[in-house]
Amino acid sequence: MGRTLFIDPGRCIGCQACVAGCRECDSHRGKSMIHLDYLEEGISAASMPTVCMHCEDPVAPCAQVCPAEAILVTPDGVVHDADKSRCIGCGNCVSACPMGVPKIDLAAKLQFKCNLCYDRTSAGLAPMCATVCPTGALFYGTMDELLADRPNVAVANTFDFDGTIVTTGVAVIVPRDRGDLPVPGGCGHEQPNVLGEPL
Ligand code: SF4
Ligand code: SF4
Repeated sequence: MGRTLFIDPGRCIGCQACVAGCRECDSHRGKSMIHLDYLEEGISAASMPTVCMHCEDPVAPCAQVCPAEAILVTPDGVVHDADKSRCIGCGNCVSACPMGVPKIDLAAKLQFKCNLCYDRTSAGLAPMCATVCPTGALFYGTMDELLADRPNVAVANTFDFDGTIVTTGVAVIVPRDRGDLPVPGGCGHEQPNVLGEPL
């Protein structure tokens, strides 16, 4: 991916602006695709927004296990939410995702997840979450643009789930000495994650 999301947990203050912005997106109006976790709720503002990481290697485990071929991966690396006309709500994608991203609407028998605001990003606009985040915890751009804005950061897009390495299109800003190494666990720890430890 050229332009992508960079997530900086160190900047996230848990204000929920990204959640509210995501809810306003035309493609899934009324439902937020961002999961926001509070690391020490009531004690600290430390929090972590989780979006789809658009897995590149292996390519989209969620799509690989879908029996209905409902999850499209476009040549630009974006892993889309389920095609409503195909998804049967089986939840295989939920089990396959190492990051805890897809959810199932049981009533609608339909999966929903972040699609990088494809209606916006395919037209050159930033996703809603990055547009409204007041602290820059969600940055959308190229690596060069990120480094021009924040010259002292390092990023990681490889995650180590107990020996299983997943490389993603979305990246996380990490301490400088971790930029070249896999980061233990994924970004999502809202639900039990059998493959990895929380950040
Ligand atoms: S819930 Fe839908 S998108 Fe997910 S694996 Fe089942 S059919 Fe595919
Ligand atoms: S983070 Fe989860 S939902 Fe997103 S591409 Fe990877 S496996 Fe699929």
